[in-house]
Amino acid sequence: MNRLLLGTRNEGKIQETKDLLAGVTGLEILTFSDAPFSDVPETGRTFLQNALLKASAISRETGLPVLSEDAGLEVRVLDGAPGVISARFAGEPSNPDRNNKLLLQKLKGVTDRRARFVTVAALCLQDGQTFVCSGVFPGIIAEEPSGNMGFGYDPLFIPSGERRTLAEMTLEEKNRVSHRHKALSRMIGILQDLIRTEELTSIIK
Ligand code: IMP
Repeated sequence: MNRLLLGTRNEGKIQETKDLLAGVTGLEILTFSDAPFSDVPETGRTFLQNALLKASAISRETGLPVLSEDAGLEVRVLDGAPGVISARFAGEPSNPDRNNKLLLQKLKGVTDRRARFVTVAALCLQDGQTFVCSGVFPGIIAEEPSGNMGFGYDPLFIPSGERRTLAEMTLEEKNRVSHRHKALSRMIGILQDLIRTEELTSIIK
């Protein structure tokens, strides 16, 4: 069995990722409770830098192949903000209601409300090989919040071609099309190939 450690302590992400990777034959998913690791500060300026920071540091610390991801919301007229600081847009400690209020305030009277969610997933192996996949999810920012499902900016985000916000959709509906789903689906192809070639757990001899 090929072991893969999920480099996150976020229960929601662990569940989503486990569900998605369940179909990969020959893969044993480990989490923080199986192989504890230190917190990795997200000091990067891009999702890519943060995803790589987390995956490489946790892989070095645990000696296991590690899959990490970083995600956030980019709003076109705000030049991509809140971006990497999505979780703490309105300051620390992170508070989704305050983040959503601040976003609405910044978009008051703005007609171009185009935005997208982005996920970058990074896989680091013990032999130094690194793989990255991303997924984007386009939509617009609503004039006011609606719905009570999901998390973060979901009550304000209306996916392209939809009338409802993400917070008005079931998790199943959201997961079929989300940025996280796209990035991880792409990563599955890479994982399957690495298992087939017996590289997932290879080390430099
Ligand atoms: P993380 O670094 O992947 O945990 O995501 C950072 C922040 O981006 C979250 O705290 C949310 O504010 C926002 N975010 C990322 N993905 C989503 C999503 O699918 N829905 C709503 N907000 C999200």
